[in-house]
Amino acid sequence: MVAAIAAAEHAPQGTEIILLEQNSKLGKKLLATGNGRCNLDNLYCTTERYFTSDPTRVTEMLQHIAQLHLPNWFLTHGLLCREAEDGRLYPYSNQAADVVNILVYWLERHQVQINTEFRISKIIAKEQGFLVHAEDGRSFYGDAVICAMGGNAGPQFGTEGFGIKTAFRTGCSMEPLYPCLVPLKCNKTQIQGLSGIRVKAVATLYDGTQPIHWENGEIQFTDYGLSGIAIMQLSGWLGPQHGIKTPSIELNLFPQSDTDTLAKSLTKRASLLPGASVQTYMTGLIHPQIGTAVWQAQQLCHHTSVDTLTELDWLKLAHGLQHWTFTELEPTGWKNAQTTGGGVALHQLYPHSFALKENPRMYFVGETVDCAGYCGGYNLHWAFGSGILAGIDAATH
Ligand SMILES: Cc1cc2nc3c(=O)[nH]c(=O)nc-3n(C[C@H](O)[C@H](O)[C@H](O)COP(=O)(O)OP(=O)(O)OC[C@H]3O[C@@H](n4cnc5c(N)ncnc54)[C@H](O)[C@@H]3O)c2cc1C
Repeated sequence: MVAAIAAAEHAPQGTEIILLEQNSKLGKKLLATGNGRCNLDNLYCTTERYFTSDPTRVTEMLQHIAQLHLPNWFLTHGLLCREAEDGRLYPYSNQAADVVNILVYWLERHQVQINTEFRISKIIAKEQGFLVHAEDGRSFYGDAVICAMGGNAGPQFGTEGFGIKTAFRTGCSMEPLYPCLVPLKCNKTQIQGLSGIRVKAVATLYDGTQPIHWENGEIQFTDYGLSGIAIMQLSGWLGPQHGIKTPSIELNLFPQSDTDTLAKSLTKRASLLPGASVQTYMTGLIHPQIGTAVWQAQQLCHHTSVDTLTELDWLKLAHGLQHWTFTELEPTGWKNAQTTGGGVALHQLYPHSFALKENPRMYFVGETVDCAGYCGGYNLHWAFGSGILAGIDAATH
């Protein structure tokens, strides 16, 4: 959508711009972003916030996107935004629908020809341009084509990997694909009875005994494993470029103290609650079911009351609360993923325009290419930014 708007705003008068979309309405995925609020940008988009095999090129591309001043672009297109924590940008109304409606307004105002329910089946280079065919036999010719067809993530929103397939058929080399920003399955016995509970923790991803990356945030327990923003961000590290062989996640439920201090304060607390069962003891400390699960994981089940714990047992419990480990991690799949890791290898694209070096009238933008952001507006920054750069370039060359 933004690529078409940018193209319309920079093209010579009389240029025809056509938008092809297989869904019956525009912006289906956008409506679902940010839990319906659309976290449409982030004010601090640095390369470290992206998963890619090619950080050098991502840096260069982000520099070109930065020149667009996206918050200002939204403002000058009538979308007032507000900054939330960590530089996250939302529409002032907190309504994703407003983002879609404003973009549709500009498409209509610029007389972009919108064709919904147009499911592209192939794009063929013809003469100086491209023939874009739909499954139902319709086709359009264009001098340039911007492929903003997403990745494999969220097929329920209309993205089933056609952008990636098109790039592949065009002869692009691809970085291996993987679901990114996705909840993780784990060994079910480790999460039994915890589904629906949320806790704040520092989550650290390990490869064997080697810590790889940590995130601080809310963890959600599900019936299959772990979710929440911290876990989704860690899932990006399971991409093939990091080569992690034996992943596990450790939760630290008391990151503010060291284990000895925690053990001492746990012991002291027991003296306040003589005869308390595990459940009672944990009440007011952490979620009782979480406390009980750690208690069990530390094999303290033979104690029915806190009175019988030894100094060593308190240390074990403190250690368990700080190193609660989850193994057999596995991404839950494309349907639950917010974005696609891997994709079109970046060296094939001009960094200022996202045009293919092999055929500069064809562009690949957004999630189709090898750059996946963290949660926090980084993916839409990339998608909007690359789309606008491609739109401007297509219109002016
Ligand atoms: C639930 C959810 C929440 C998210 N929340 C956020 C958030 O708050 N902030 C953030 O930065 N990112 C968020 N993301 C990620 C972000 O939405 C995507 O990274 C971004 O939308 C990618 O943009 P894109 O233009 O590359 O592709 P998409 O937005 O996926 O758009 C691709 C379009 O191409 C169409 N298409 C695909 N194949 C064909 C075909 N064969 N013919 C015709 N049309 C086709 C699709 O229908 C779709 O409309 C979220 C993702 C999900 C799934």
